[in-house]
Amino acid sequence: MKKLILWVFLLIAFTAAVPLLILSPFSEKQTDIDDIRYGGPEIKVLHSKTKEIMTVPLEKYLVGVVAAEMPAEFPPEALKAQAVAARSYALKKMQDGLNGEGHPGVHVCTDHNHCQAWLSEEEMKKCWGKKAPEYIKKITQAVLGTRGIVLTYENKLIEPVYHSTSSGRTENSEDVWQAKIPYLRSTASPWDKDSPKFRQEISMPLEEVDRKLGTSLSAVPAGTFSQSSPVQILEHTHTGRAKSVEIGGRVFSARELREKLSLPSTDFTCKIKGGEIIFITRGYGHGVGMSQYGAKGMAEEGYTYQEILKHYYTGVSLSRAYR
Ligand SMILES: [Zn+2]
Repeated sequence: MKKLILWVFLLIAFTAAVPLLILSPFSEKQTDIDDIRYGGPEIKVLHSKTKEIMTVPLEKYLVGVVAAEMPAEFPPEALKAQAVAARSYALKKMQDGLNGEGHPGVHVCTDHNHCQAWLSEEEMKKCWGKKAPEYIKKITQAVLGTRGIVLTYENKLIEPVYHSTSSGRTENSEDVWQAKIPYLRSTASPWDKDSPKFRQEISMPLEEVDRKLGTSLSAVPAGTFSQSSPVQILEHTHTGRAKSVEIGGRVFSARELREKLSLPSTDFTCKIKGGEIIFITRGYGHGVGMSQYGAKGMAEEGYTYQEILKHYYTGVSLSRAYR
């Protein structure tokens, strides 16, 4: 009889554990993302450094993207928002087919300047050391917890651009690029003030500025700068970022200036001191779409990933592209 009771108990315990096993694709001890059965569509990825072409389940690829694009310490809801943005981007590239710009034969590459950054599991382990099992698990849960979910506008996948830190308000797409995109509208992002990248001071010798911009600031007698600044912001965006700038008699778009001088943002003031130009910048990145530090702040205040995404992408819907 005792034996029977034991068997019944074991049977009940096993039955109760089955849904748990199904619900938790990533068990406590498991840290190897290769062991998970991802299913779903597969994506062709060009590793920009090694030139290797990988065909991987889209969900697995996304673990590497979230790991590379957002700090793993960020709260789960922020990581989920990042996963959905990254999935929408990747799926859009897959819809475009294998003849995409820059790399025929694959959907995406791992160069963050062209597509999305990506880390292999090996790179994650190297990056995070002892914390790797915890972070890999956390990111995998954020990806699989939003499995198949994408952002759409009028039933089409959106271009989910994002940046690190805004200057307190995100930008309208047409103020940074040419096109006016209905879901990339300026919105408040007060959480960004807590980002370590919110305010930065960048000093550059005048010779370096001349070399990068083709100006001749270093040839101007130092006293001249105390009377008139050689840098004039000609036009601002509605959030107060520079839009076009005159420097040393030449006119640049603020975006061009930011790229040429590797400035964190186009929201800046500057002064000349000694033989150097000092830029004081606010925010980090182009300022359009989701702010990652904003997403972190919202998650810490209890917002869900759906609320975060709908805040930064105006008028979008979340829908499931596959199960
Ligand atoms: Zn690419």
